Amino acid sequence: MPSTRPMLPTRRLGKTDLEVTVIGFGGIPIQIVPEQDAIAAVRRTFDLGVNFFDTARGYTNSEERIGKALAGQDYIVATKSGNREAEGIYEDVATSLANLRRDRIDLFQFHGVNDDDQLAQVLAPYGALAGLRRARGEGKIAHIGITGHRRETLMNAVKQCDDLTTVQVPFNLVESDIRDTLIPLCQERDVGVIAMKPVGGGNFTNAPLAIKWCINQPITVAIPGMATAEEVEQDVPVAREMGLTAGEQALLEQMRSELDQRTCRRCRYCEPCPQGVQISSLLHGRSVVRRMGVERWKEWGALDIIASVDLCTECGECLPKCPYNLPIPELIREHAAYFRTIPELAED
Ligand code: SF4
Ligand code: SF4
Repeated sequence: MPSTRPMLPTRRLGKTDLEVTVIGFGGIPIQIVPEQDAIAAVRRTFDLGVNFFDTARGYTNSEERIGKALAGQDYIVATKSGNREAEGIYEDVATSLANLRRDRIDLFQFHGVNDDDQLAQVLAPYGALAGLRRARGEGKIAHIGITGHRRETLMNAVKQCDDLTTVQVPFNLVESDIRDTLIPLCQERDVGVIAMKPVGGGNFTNAPLAIKWCINQPITVAIPGMATAEEVEQDVPVAREMGLTAGEQALLEQMRSELDQRTCRRCRYCEPCPQGVQISSLLHGRSVVRRMGVERWKEWGALDIIASVDLCTECGECLPKCPYNLPIPELIREHAAYFRTIPELAED
């Protein structure tokens, strides 16, 4: 029987023969909703024509939920592991295969390679690359990719490792520096670009418009995190019509100017703070809470991160180091005040 799923525009995923829809599914937020809601969100995404689903070993139950929701369906799946050793990542492939109920994973990525030391670990003789090459040779995975937040490290990765078929990196209306750097390099090397955080990690108000902007850029696929079927219904249809109207462009410009001076890009150029304020961790906290929940952020040291704001002497040393001219002392106070309104984070 022919499929009744809507057709969405597709692009080839780097140097693979896979055609992925321009909008994909980011699997972080389905961890923090009840399983039935998570499964409904994944299935609705598939029913609306999306064929690319991204998850990770590190997103607790996300792989299992996607595997359960889409068992027996024809879709392209990407997952990732932060293990830097050959043996460890090879074992993670087996775990992901079982969780996802698949015989093969289309794309397996090195997760969160955020500096050159981590990249060196991945590329070392007994590093993660060796483990994924073995898994690929055995047909357990089809392609290898990398994810990270630091443009320079990802550019080094693309230059040093021909095995990479994709790079996954934050890219949105505000964090768009890679458009003139990493993206042209990827185009030259035929490496696909997977845009994570197209809605600023949940911080932008008009999610559909932010996603529409993203899929109209020279990337392969944007993967907004969507936790419920309602969010899916709101976000996915933007991919049905490509191009931006003059009215949308004006709205986007207004959004950009409002967000530009308030959005931390997590580059950490401002750190270390001489007083020990955990600047970027604090400014990233809201996104972690939205996508992963308060308990997860607490496991990552939320209370210490919030408490570190009290150490700020307003010396101003961090200000000239921020390439985006963010008013750091003001922003960290604002964020800390917000977190202290959340009961689980208000304890001392
Ligand atoms: S202004 Fe505050 S956060 Fe910035 S360097 Fe000084 S103490 Fe640290
Ligand atoms: S405050 Fe500025 S320098 Fe510091 S991590 Fe955020 S964007 Fe980077």
